[in-house]
Amino acid sequence: MNVRKRILITGAAGFLGSHLCDRFIKEGFHVIGMDNLITGNLQNIEHLFGLENFDFLHHDVSKFVHVPGTLDYILHFASPASPIDYLRIPIQTLKVGSLGTHNLLGLAKDKKARILVASTSEVYGDPLVSPQSEQYWGNVNPVGPRGVYDEAKRFQEAMTMAYHNFHGLDTRIVRIFNTYGPRMRPEDGRALPTFIGQALRGEDITVFGKGEQTRSFCYISDQIDGIYKLLLSDYPHPVNIGNPEELTILQLAQEIIALTNSPSRIRFEALPEDDPKRRRPDITLATKILDWEPKVSLKEGLIKSITYFKNFTTEDNRNTNK
Ligand code: NAD
Ligand code: UDP
Repeated sequence: MNVRKRILITGAAGFLGSHLCDRFIKEGFHVIGMDNLITGNLQNIEHLFGLENFDFLHHDVSKFVHVPGTLDYILHFASPASPIDYLRIPIQTLKVGSLGTHNLLGLAKDKKARILVASTSEVYGDPLVSPQSEQYWGNVNPVGPRGVYDEAKRFQEAMTMAYHNFHGLDTRIVRIFNTYGPRMRPEDGRALPTFIGQALRGEDITVFGKGEQTRSFCYISDQIDGIYKLLLSDYPHPVNIGNPEELTILQLAQEIIALTNSPSRIRFEALPEDDPKRRRPDITLATKILDWEPKVSLKEGLIKSITYFKNFTTEDNRNTNK
């Protein structure tokens, strides 16, 4: 009998988590989604609720986590991810990265499951080198506003490596660089959905600072492919997954205005404290060990995202537009 592998995905109702649920269902897994809905939305996974190989547990992973039955894999993706979210709920952000990670590592040990944790390019802080490779230790202000997110994720990595080294737990760490696409919340405050919404409504585009800071945006399908390959690899150390196509935030705003054919103008606003000046992944390691590289260009990904957000404002069809 062909028994399905069982995977727990935390943060299942969020942007990345919901796409991971879809991917693992498609690959024939039994998926158990877990979420406390603090920033996520059940609409992102409502299309999975009738399936016999999908279960959902409404639970805060910063509290003791119990999952009935066996588990082969755990993906820990629960955490606020947008700056406006983690500034609004700083303590919960610190708790889910630390206590939540500890609970899930304990669960993985108990179930003898492999666990992959979602880390971030933010572990590099405001980097002094570019592009950022996995060898770079970062430049993080622990007591600045972003410290609640960055340090929780750095603790998460340290705790995960400690379980790997001390308990021999089978672990993976993905350092995710800015990822975008359908199911991002239009109001989540991140630059890309904010700019698309503003452009579609013909409002001013709010560029912070002079817009000279850079980011490198990865389309969701590429990110999910990278995470899938990393989980199934045998590499326990952190791996960057992102798209090295770097541009300034002003260029991003201009590109979105052009692609939406919008009358919007740029309005410059104050740069938030500790906003990283440069961010670009070095993906040499991922290319070598996972045979992975992004396939979707920024232009192509923006066009898909604009179509999604256009439909989103008129009707809620999140699940048809990948
Ligand atoms: P998201 O806010 O859309 O999803 C996060 C999900 O986690 C939400 O559904 C939320 O309700 C849930 N959650 C938060 N705290 C929880 C808790 N204590 N217990 C249970 N559920 C909880 O964010 P996202 O963009 O999908 O990010 C998912 C993961 O990927 C996060 O760990 C984030 O740090 C990481 N990440 C994302 C990006 C990106 O560009 N989107 C970049 C780097 C890292
Ligand atoms: N940003 C901006 N206008 C906005 C939202 C964000 O200029 O309305 C800037 C922000 O200051 C940062 C960049 O865009 O320099 C990316 O911000 P985002 O919140 O998307 O992600 P992160 O800073 O976590 O990379």
